[in-house]
Amino acid sequence: MAEHHDDLLEKDREYVWHSMKPYHPERTIIVKRAEGVWITDSKNRKYLDAMSGLWCVNIGYGRKELAEVAKKQMEELAYFPLTQSHSPAIELAEKLNNMLDGQYVIFFSNSGSEANETAIKIARQYYHQIGQSTRYKILSRYRSYHGNTLATLAATGQAERKYKFEPLATGFIHVMPPDLYRHPLQETINPRERRETKAIEEAITWEMKETVAAVIMEPIISGGGILLPPEDYLKAVEEICRENGVLLILDEVICGFGRTGKPFGFMNYGIQPDIITMAKGITSGYLPLAATAVKKEIYDQFKGGELYDYFRHITTFGGHPASCAVALENLNILEQEKLYQRSHKSGKQILQILKQRLLHTPYVGHIRGKGLLIGIELVSDKKLKTPLDVPYVNEVISYCFEKGLIIGKNGATVAGFNNVLTLAPPLTISEQEIQFLLEILVQSIDRLENLIK
Ligand code: PLP
Repeated sequence: MAEHHDDLLEKDREYVWHSMKPYHPERTIIVKRAEGVWITDSKNRKYLDAMSGLWCVNIGYGRKELAEVAKKQMEELAYFPLTQSHSPAIELAEKLNNMLDGQYVIFFSNSGSEANETAIKIARQYYHQIGQSTRYKILSRYRSYHGNTLATLAATGQAERKYKFEPLATGFIHVMPPDLYRHPLQETINPRERRETKAIEEAITWEMKETVAAVIMEPIISGGGILLPPEDYLKAVEEICRENGVLLILDEVICGFGRTGKPFGFMNYGIQPDIITMAKGITSGYLPLAATAVKKEIYDQFKGGELYDYFRHITTFGGHPASCAVALENLNILEQEKLYQRSHKSGKQILQILKQRLLHTPYVGHIRGKGLLIGIELVSDKKLKTPLDVPYVNEVISYCFEKGLIIGKNGATVAGFNNVLTLAPPLTISEQEIQFLLEILVQSIDRLENLIK
């Protein structure tokens, strides 16, 4: 077994270009199989995957139902592009529309980046179509992540991920997001007057609203550090968008499909976006699929019959029949097993215990989350809220890993702000597995006291 592992690792080093991380042979595992919340590596070690892969395996690993549906669909119709149609795509579009309240048409693609890229292109072309072609700017927020393409990276608010690829697509502006730890909520102030919402309104005013096409935001900034908005923030943003004729795009790539305890993250905040993008949890990662849901009144502007009035965009694999069939089965499981409710309940329980056991410790500044999307912000000085140095944050993650627990940390934002531990386990996580997760996580953070002295 070990020999086979070493051999594979050597070939991995030779041939595979991994995302993001520098290559660490000693820390790389070769994942062989997975079941529920557990992954098993080529040395037969088991790990509780409290990050659901990359925030996506919402129904847990090893569901035979999904494999069977994919097999059956491939035998019947392995592939056809959505220049024509097929029943898995039709049924899935109908289902998503019903989940969203019946006002949307769905454009399928393959990844979260593509879903957002598609949304940005739809917003821009829409304004051409309705005779407002000066509207092209896209407003987003610092710390957000919207994808790896030159436009979605331009929308992303994490400088460190971007600067080596510049110049990116043009026409993107950023404002600061809510950060309730560093800027606690001023309850008495009208939500429209708070700094976070004012920032959006003022950016639209000073850019000249006639040049702004859309605002794009995650309901909760996830990879950028689990930044929850004030409860009334999104409603205020929606109002600002309506008043200024700007489209509101919600990026539900992580927050969708139960991650925050509701089918979609925006449903926690009582808004109805113009465009909603989704990927990851739509198939729980079993096959690649993404979607951009667009209000019918926007779609109607693409049906004019003039030359080039149609959406000038195409994808070979978007809406692949097997992916759509798997997504439908995944949605059935999420509903039948009441996983939205379970995410809400388990998330509340984890937050409560984490707060009891960790908030009084010297290096935990803030603990926050919604559903099974949870962040723990580590600091070296609780009064000054100084972010803990990355080597110590990594030490916590490594210790968990050695003990069989995979947790994450926020993506690179700017140097010094890589200090938020992240949890996003499969929504199926059991009581016993939650206890295992908490035990190791608390131990790993308690160890900091000895390490830092
Ligand atoms: N949007 C958000 C909020 C994400 O977190 C991600 C990826 O993590 C993306 C978009 C891009 O998705 P993908 O990696 O599938 O292209």
